[in-house]
Amino acid sequence: MDIINHILGFPRIGAHRELKFAQENYWSGKISKIELLKIGKKLRYKNWKDQSSSGINLISVGDFSWYDHVLTTSMMLGNIPERHRNIDGSIDLDTLFYMARGTALNKSSVLACEMTKWFDTNYHYIVPEFVKNQDFNLSWNQLFDEIDEAINKGYSVKPVILGPMTYLWLGKITGVKFNRLSLLPNLLKVYQKILNKIYEKGIEWIQIDEPILVFDLPSDWMHAFKMTYDILKSDLKLLLTTYFESINHNLNDIVNFPVQGLHIDLTHGKYDLSVLNRKIPHDWVLSLGVINGRNIWKSDLKFWFDVIQNFLKFKRNVWIGSSCSLLHSPVDLRLENNIPLEIKNWFSFALQKCYELNLLTLALNDNDSSILQSWTDLLHSHAKSEMVNNDFVKNQLMNITYNDKKRHSVYSVRSKVQKNTFHFPVLPTTTIGSFPQTDDIRALRLQFKKGKIDFHKYQNEIKKHIQYAIQQQELLDIDVLVHGESERNDMVEYFGEHLAGFIFTNYGWVQSYGSRCVKPPVIVGDVYRKNPITIEWSKYAQSITKKPVKAMLTGPVTILCWSFIREDLPKQIISNQIALALRDEVLDLERAGINIIQIDEPALREGLPLRKIDWKKYLSWATQSFRISSSKVQDTTQIHTHMCYCEFSDIMDAIVQLDADVITIETARSHMDLLEFFKTFEYPNEIGPGVYDIHSPNIPSVDQIVYLLEQAIKYIPINRLWVNPDCGLKTRNWKETISSLKNMMIATKKIRKKFETLTI
Ligand code: GLN
Ligand code: ZN
Repeated sequence: MDIINHILGFPRIGAHRELKFAQENYWSGKISKIELLKIGKKLRYKNWKDQSSSGINLISVGDFSWYDHVLTTSMMLGNIPERHRNIDGSIDLDTLFYMARGTALNKSSVLACEMTKWFDTNYHYIVPEFVKNQDFNLSWNQLFDEIDEAINKGYSVKPVILGPMTYLWLGKITGVKFNRLSLLPNLLKVYQKILNKIYEKGIEWIQIDEPILVFDLPSDWMHAFKMTYDILKSDLKLLLTTYFESINHNLNDIVNFPVQGLHIDLTHGKYDLSVLNRKIPHDWVLSLGVINGRNIWKSDLKFWFDVIQNFLKFKRNVWIGSSCSLLHSPVDLRLENNIPLEIKNWFSFALQKCYELNLLTLALNDNDSSILQSWTDLLHSHAKSEMVNNDFVKNQLMNITYNDKKRHSVYSVRSKVQKNTFHFPVLPTTTIGSFPQTDDIRALRLQFKKGKIDFHKYQNEIKKHIQYAIQQQELLDIDVLVHGESERNDMVEYFGEHLAGFIFTNYGWVQSYGSRCVKPPVIVGDVYRKNPITIEWSKYAQSITKKPVKAMLTGPVTILCWSFIREDLPKQIISNQIALALRDEVLDLERAGINIIQIDEPALREGLPLRKIDWKKYLSWATQSFRISSSKVQDTTQIHTHMCYCEFSDIMDAIVQLDADVITIETARSHMDLLEFFKTFEYPNEIGPGVYDIHSPNIPSVDQIVYLLEQAIKYIPINRLWVNPDCGLKTRNWKETISSLKNMMIATKKIRKKFETLTI
């Protein structure tokens, strides 16, 4: 029997980020809805054509979405929060954007739907909201229209949908608390309709994504899973799809679901294929995810050939595919013309991954692996490359001791020293680091990058931006100033560019959220600092103000998580290499007279393994890495850290272990739900729960901020509380920024006054 191949989804953004620009142009009124829809269609057609011509058998449909696929699912299910709904109940594409961007029907601003990380990736989805007893209705035909489009083009279509259990799990309850499983009957009615409609189109297989099956699910959820699939049983064949981790621990339950196929991720989960064969019903299709959809390295096709060939001995119906959707990998390596060929040969982007799958399929169907040899050889040339190995780095790592991972004194001692050094008022105010990245700044950086202006000119121009940022902060009367990060394109890319071991692509874009894409650096070799990175900018900022300037660095775990990393070293080693490089920078900053240094770790939570049993190990090395970078400073130096998009409660112990003097965290978008947590957990050091949401253009009112601060004071002692926005301000404009920060300062001063009268 010939093997069938498929991918779980293709990147929707376009190789040139066409979707990003189209959406943004639509939002700003530069193009019409018709033009936007046209661009979307063109992208889909191209994606299908590219998959098909590179040899993919089943074409995924339903992987395209405006903004986010969880949001599209909410639209399909008619799960639209009241505040975004049309009066007559109708919805259209604008409804979708309103939910994501926080716009009400009359175009005034309302709370946007929450956004959070998709599993352990750097993709963010829009969180569905559930209220008690709510109904669902099939409300949005995008999927069906796209299936028709693809059928008309003559492709063998495999629609992709997000499964009901994962959809429920990923949402949040608003209003009165209730068991969300109680929504299943209503939800499944709509899913049944969806499946029937798809079946009527002559479709044979549907990919139904239930990635939560990799979690340690509560038993009522496992029961509900079985019940769900009993109800969803239809003539359409269901490929139950899991990814990002192994499902071994839930397999005994899964094999009882009435589905026709199962997809597993062999690149992340550890599986014993003979056990799988024994457990999984023989009439099921087993889809083996062997091409890693989350990294940019070529696959070792020879290795996979052997694995799969072994498995074929069981005479089962096998498909092969990408491990997960290729959403997490860039689109087309062919566009890269700036990386040396030696390095380019190690890589494979989404389109090349399709090609890899085809190659592997051909080899397996011919029972001959010789066509794979040259591919695998290219990948193996990495280990021998001079770019990769550095003995100095290896030695330095071996010599790390316990003392390298701890501050000279404990926080209670340090904090006294620091209070005497800085003399901050109650509720010190600060920002998270970046100030608006204006078109001017971007144009300037581009000119410098293209060699159109020399470093001297560039430096002078950046200094003007720093000067402006410092001036504005002084006018606002903020206590701890920042230089504004105008020299940085991206918080990880910037450091990668200045460290050895990294390389950069021109087109390696992946979607982060909505229209926002990131271009992760690639760690190909041992990492070390070649020269000081940020010192001159921070020194300059400090030289033009009497107020303390906080320096900004990106932490080792975040640099690791937001890069494409080499696959030949454990994450922990790579992270410690980065930490040592950052430590050089921290100590140089201190020497230059910068006494407040923030090391951002927004990705600490996202790096958490999906399975709880793996958490302890990860958190232990991750916190140690942070401490390697931050611990060698004097007691007088105040270390800050910042995190966002976190369910912090899971990792609070680890956050404490970081032993930063101050942590600023995101809370505004989740309405400070987090503060509840501090009722029972006392964070021992200083903390700044973000008092407004910088992700939305809305200006927070003084009253809103006063309210949030009053809440915060209930749970966190005022002498350990800081006031700050919930993240960096680079995506906002100056007008919004100043208005918002003004209100933040007025609110802070109000509370300070109240506090002073209380304590007199
Ligand atoms: N210092 C960074 C900034 O202000 C932090 C960004 C982040 O947390 N994602 O932009
Ligand atoms: Zn942040």
